[in-house]
Amino acid sequence: MEWIRPDDTGYDEARKLFNAMIDRRPAVIAQCGNPNDVGEALRYAHEHRLDVAVRSGGHSVAGMSMNDGGLVIDVRPMKTVTVDAAAQTATVGGGVTWGEFDRAAQPYGLAVTGGRVSTTGVAGFTLGGGSGWMERSWGLACDNLVSVDLVTAAGELVTASEQENPDLFWALHGAGGNFGVAVSLTFRMYQVGEQSLAGLMLWPADAAPDVARAYRDFAPDAPAGVGTALASVIAPPEEFVPADLQNKPALGVVFVHAGEPGTGEAALETVRSWGPAADVVAPRPYAEFQSMLDDQPDQFNYWSAEYHDEFPDPALDVFLRSGAKLPHPSSQLLLIPWGGAVAEVYGTSTPMARRDATWVSHPFALWQDPAQTEAAIAWAKGFRRDISDFATGGVYLNFIGHEGQDRIKAAFGEENYNRLARIKHQYDPLNVFRGNQNIEPAA
Ligand SMILES: Cc1cc2nc3c(=O)[nH]c(=O)nc-3n(C[C@H](O)[C@H](O)[C@H](O)COP(=O)(O)OP(=O)(O)OC[C@H]3O[C@@H](n4cnc5c(N)ncnc54)[C@H](O)[C@@H]3O)c2cc1C
Repeated sequence: MEWIRPDDTGYDEARKLFNAMIDRRPAVIAQCGNPNDVGEALRYAHEHRLDVAVRSGGHSVAGMSMNDGGLVIDVRPMKTVTVDAAAQTATVGGGVTWGEFDRAAQPYGLAVTGGRVSTTGVAGFTLGGGSGWMERSWGLACDNLVSVDLVTAAGELVTASEQENPDLFWALHGAGGNFGVAVSLTFRMYQVGEQSLAGLMLWPADAAPDVARAYRDFAPDAPAGVGTALASVIAPPEEFVPADLQNKPALGVVFVHAGEPGTGEAALETVRSWGPAADVVAPRPYAEFQSMLDDQPDQFNYWSAEYHDEFPDPALDVFLRSGAKLPHPSSQLLLIPWGGAVAEVYGTSTPMARRDATWVSHPFALWQDPAQTEAAIAWAKGFRRDISDFATGGVYLNFIGHEGQDRIKAAFGEENYNRLARIKHQYDPLNVFRGNQNIEPAA
């Protein structure tokens, strides 16, 4: 195991997260390559009374995986990916990113619902739920967990699955890293073959109202195997974008069809009938598509999110108005259809409440100049305020930063939150793992 302290080479690299807003200085970063290392790091933190944070892909927007003056358990050295093609399962180490996972599974023609950005950590993403393009067909990433091995606050290595520690397994479906350090996660996998049909289409601002309405009516009933999202963006200055659209506000539809060939083409023809000005949807390996929309690192980030049962015309008007005022060309405003397999998991069968929401809206502010910080955050908060009349009050926690304990409770609902608090009390009564969307241990 490597211990990295402030005077060591590599300290600044090791404490850096995806969000450039986060600039924290832990006392020590323990780079752990196996469960024993994690246990040793936890003992060290306990002996020296250090706060603990757990870091995998480093994509927490609020920087929950880094702390000031404490100990950070960095699981990135745990990089193994093992695919069992016959069983259609895969097991990944706690430090694997989605790009690494997707690329290792692609040669077997297999995949599971994964990050829309390939640099996100599998562990943090999945333990927080795991919303990806294929969720309406395959469920969230957490729905596909077969088992998780984790090191608890007491330093014990436990397996959580439907058969072993089922309460803990239930809690891991969305309540983040509250219960231990995940060192290995096993997933059910799906056939994607060699090629999927995937890419992005763009329309200019004057077409946006009609396209947005057509999309809203199409997406909730899109056939199995099709994943989409609506995105207000600034059209990039790239070859596939006509010159008169480059660097201008645009409306995008992300489209992917993975799995059995056939149904995707008809759905794509529907979207293409809306006449995109730019269109890069084409057959390509699923793993390649998964990194096609990667955001540039080292930018400032602030996001929020809401659930919606419906997205009527006045809500679309709010979406389009905010989408036309993105604070920076890297920023995006997303409307993601849930339903399908996401909604099939009801009520208390996983901790996440309101999985039957039809839509998730997600203002995703990214910018590069600290002078723009106030305006960028005000834009994301302004969208949330303006869309609130159409929101359910529930929220998907992976898409927000620190928005307070009420939002965490809203994400789980009272009954699930109370059950999580009891499980937290059983596995982490002292709240060692509090660098997350925190569940307070039941008294
Ligand atoms: C550019 C970008 C795109 C994103 N796109 C999506 C998306 O499409 N869908 C979606 O659902 N989310 C998305 N997210 C959000 C992302 O899934 C969450 O922020 C997630 O928590 C990141 O996981 P990580 O391992 O990269 O982050 P980290 O910052 O390393 O960790 C995040 C949280 O998970 C905990 N954690 C990490 N590893 C472990 C572990 N091994 N054991 C226990 N706890 C652990 C940390 O303690 C922390 O609380 C995106 C984030 C970014 C920055």
